[in-house]
Amino acid sequence: MQPLEEISQAADRWRNSIGRRPIKAALFDMDGTLYDSMPRHAQAWHRLLTELDIPHSLDEIYLYEGMTGAATINLLFNRHYGRNATPEECSRYYEAKTRYFNELPTAPIMPGAPQVLNYLASAGLTIILVTGSGQHSLIDRLNHDFPGIFHRDRMVTSANVNHGKPHPEPYLLGAAMAGVSPAECIAIENAPLGVESASRSGAFTIGLTTGPIPAQKLAEAGADIVLPSMQSLADNIEIILNNLNHKYHPLPKL
Ligand code: MG
Repeated sequence: MQPLEEISQAADRWRNSIGRRPIKAALFDMDGTLYDSMPRHAQAWHRLLTELDIPHSLDEIYLYEGMTGAATINLLFNRHYGRNATPEECSRYYEAKTRYFNELPTAPIMPGAPQVLNYLASAGLTIILVTGSGQHSLIDRLNHDFPGIFHRDRMVTSANVNHGKPHPEPYLLGAAMAGVSPAECIAIENAPLGVESASRSGAFTIGLTTGPIPAQKLAEAGADIVLPSMQSLADNIEIILNNLNHKYHPLPKL
């Protein structure tokens, strides 16, 4: 299927399923979406888990993306030791993982991200960060790297949710911070658990395959549309928004 046709069909499905509502806010995941930071997170987890002698694969770490650090540690502890980590272990190991991450070279901005953000901001959308991360090294860079886009009180992080992704709470809170219904939001995500969280909240969910996880996994997690990169979203964001807002004229038959 041609990409434009796919966008048009996804937007049709979206409008038909929940009724027509203009999009008023954009909810952005951070790691693997705004920053090409996932290889560094995977390396930092790998270093920690190797030290703890917990068997793991590098690729599986990408599947845990979106979960809070504590949830990831508990999942691995349960698998290996058959128990949750204590709160003390959780904070000690997450602190170590964060330190290992910070020792690595700074993660680059995802190519295409500034274009997408600037377009959405100029289109009048409220932009909200919805990250499972509690690591300040990247959160603190947002205002510097994307000037005028993010606002301190418009950020959902691991600090202000009870349930991390794939629970819908982070994206529901993101929509609430924007003062709109999730049905008036687009969400941009790169990980299956994040896509599931966004999709369950009711936002139109755009999955980006920016790492080793195949498009099919994001579609299965509930993505309304899957694009191969943030740059591809930059190239198509105007068309997507116009389709969702039904301002776009029917596409010519290709
Ligand atoms: Mg992500």
